[in-house]
Amino acid sequence: MSKPLLVADGLTKHYTVNRGFLKPKATLKAVDGVSFDLSAGQTVAVVGESGSGKSTLARLLTMIEQPTGGTLEIVGKDAAHPGRADAKELRRAVQMIFQDPYGSLNPRKKIGTILEESVVINTDMPAKERKERGQALLSKVGLRSEHYHRYPHMFSGGQRQRIAIARALMLNPRILVADEPVSALDVSVQAQVLNLMMDLQEEFNLAYLFISHDLSVVRHIADEVLVLYLGKPVEQGSKETLFERPRHPYTRALLGSTPSVDPAHRTQRISVKGELPSPLNPPSGCAFRSRCPYATDLCKDERPPLRYVDSRMVACHYAETIS
Ligand code: SF4
Repeated sequence: MSKPLLVADGLTKHYTVNRGFLKPKATLKAVDGVSFDLSAGQTVAVVGESGSGKSTLARLLTMIEQPTGGTLEIVGKDAAHPGRADAKELRRAVQMIFQDPYGSLNPRKKIGTILEESVVINTDMPAKERKERGQALLSKVGLRSEHYHRYPHMFSGGQRQRIAIARALMLNPRILVADEPVSALDVSVQAQVLNLMMDLQEEFNLAYLFISHDLSVVRHIADEVLVLYLGKPVEQGSKETLFERPRHPYTRALLGSTPSVDPAHRTQRISVKGELPSPLNPPSGCAFRSRCPYATDLCKDERPPLRYVDSRMVACHYAETIS
């Protein structure tokens, strides 16, 4: 097996938050000890409610933010603290697709300009070659070369997301970080865009870090799944293992809200009873205990370590018995 393109080990991002006059500062643990590998041709899905740390993790992997702990290696380089030359290479290797295809394309620029922008900034590729590359990628995502001279408002949501995907591929990246890439689209269009992403993954041997709060989408596209709760991994393993027999009560609750892969249910979203606790004041012991039907005194007193149980990693004192 070839070396992973990305290795995160204990990746952590803590923020110091001012709580007001005369109050002590607090620490917000947005991402807290996340470890995983990502290889060419593989999709790792990150799931959790909003506030779980998914988007902060995306910002760390795309080097928009620097971690406060742990290590991050991308294409064999230190991506947590890259030197100038490495940072340039890393920015090309990792590209991002955003949730909102309406907001992510500049309405005043033509599609061709939008596609070529990153190539102009990051390479010295001649104009003719740039245009050829842009037009070739436009056709790869199912659009036509005459679309090159049009503006974003002339396209549907699905077409705009296709353009955003083509833009992300312009620099020939190895890894795409996709933050809820289909959740703003109609259900019928979601499947088309997901299938396009899977085709492109195969053709270019891309690695995907796929963030989603829609488990029917994750079931469709993921190889590995990482479940986050208040910034911490609570369960991670292969899609088959987690979907067939989740061991963490949180994963079970998430999956309980996704009854079927039937297209009619594809909009089913995560819903777990109770409110997500404040990340500034999480419960002692197991952070999930305030919403967990199995919580005991042990859960209050001791934080469950992430450990190997039945072919996956899980952080629950009772992972062996809850099933
Ligand atoms: Fe629930 Fe306790 Fe397991 Fe946490 S450790 S998930 S509170 S049973």
